[in-house]
Amino acid sequence: MLFDNHGRQINYVRIAVTDRCNLRCFYCMPEEGIQYMPKKDLLTYEEIVRLVTLLAQMGISKVRFTGGEPFVRKDFMRLVQSVSTINGITNIHLTTNGVLTAPHVKELQKAGVKSVNLSLDTLDKKRFESITRRDEFDNVMETLDLLLSEGITVKLNAVVMEGKNTEDILPLVTFTKSKLVSVRFIEEMPFNGKGNHNPTLHWNHHKILDHIRSAYPTLSKLKDEANSTSYNYAIPGHHGNVGVIAAFSRTFCGTCDRIRITAQGTLKTCLYDDGVLNIRDLMRAGVSDDELKATLLKAFKNRARDGFEAEQQRKTGRGVSESMSTIGG
Ligand code: SAM
Ligand code: SF4
Repeated sequence: MLFDNHGRQINYVRIAVTDRCNLRCFYCMPEEGIQYMPKKDLLTYEEIVRLVTLLAQMGISKVRFTGGEPFVRKDFMRLVQSVSTINGITNIHLTTNGVLTAPHVKELQKAGVKSVNLSLDTLDKKRFESITRRDEFDNVMETLDLLLSEGITVKLNAVVMEGKNTEDILPLVTFTKSKLVSVRFIEEMPFNGKGNHNPTLHWNHHKILDHIRSAYPTLSKLKDEANSTSYNYAIPGHHGNVGVIAAFSRTFCGTCDRIRITAQGTLKTCLYDDGVLNIRDLMRAGVSDDELKATLLKAFKNRARDGFEAEQQRKTGRGVSESMSTIGG
């Protein structure tokens, strides 16, 4: 088992396979002027497989692919299939916006992907377009239905934004009455790629929960999975359930079990740090497997205590403002 310097077990890696995306979600990136990284700077699939193989040897068993949008990268399913055969990797998950996902749902199931996080901030087609700046609502809903019909667990990620979709909170909760989905309401974080850090949070986890409870007073707390980032609740008579993720308030750092790899191979040992080393550069300079494992271990033994400390230690000295598409959420 792999532990960090604060005694937290690390067993989960989140890998952004690209920073490119076919949506332009308001909270994630600006509408125009995005500078994508050159393709040669992305980790190749072979490099990702090598990295995951080493991480699995070190004690990591769970992988999540994210982005950008994973399905905009060519042959993404080839990567999923390769990683599914790595010894020690027992869980593969995916975070996707669902626009290009539908044709791959059966293959995902065959590759052993048991759970998919689908981003859906509203059930209103018009508001979907205003939030994502693209008219793709119907494709996302098709993906949702296919995932459910293939028996894949679905968590819907909904970022709560003042002035954008707070009227969608209750309809999304109502949606769980008939649909076997977990809707997780996420505090908006300032990872929006606009370069100016705006730390104002109108809707924190308390306010979101109070709002849900005002309409659903019978809401009852579920026992959360170990290392869960969401506080989860059941509603009597509903097939699905709801959760709240205090992503900006950072209440879950004490049990954080995950590391992140950006599309260009930067290791982040906290969502709020600005990268602790570049794995791609080491690999391309010819590092051996043992050397790479030793370097990774050193980084894992030097993690910030929580997201506040990680943010304070950023080399730029400024708060977070990069686009979430470079990190993967
Ligand atoms: N494109 C895929 C998608 O949207 O599901 C995967 C990448 S996206 C960056 C991963 C998750 O980050 C999404 O669920 C998205 O809602 C969330 N996210 C992006 N920007 C965010 C922000 N500023 N605050 C909170 N969550 C954010
Ligand atoms: Fe793309 Fe996901 Fe960011 Fe939306 S949240 S712009 S779908 S990467």
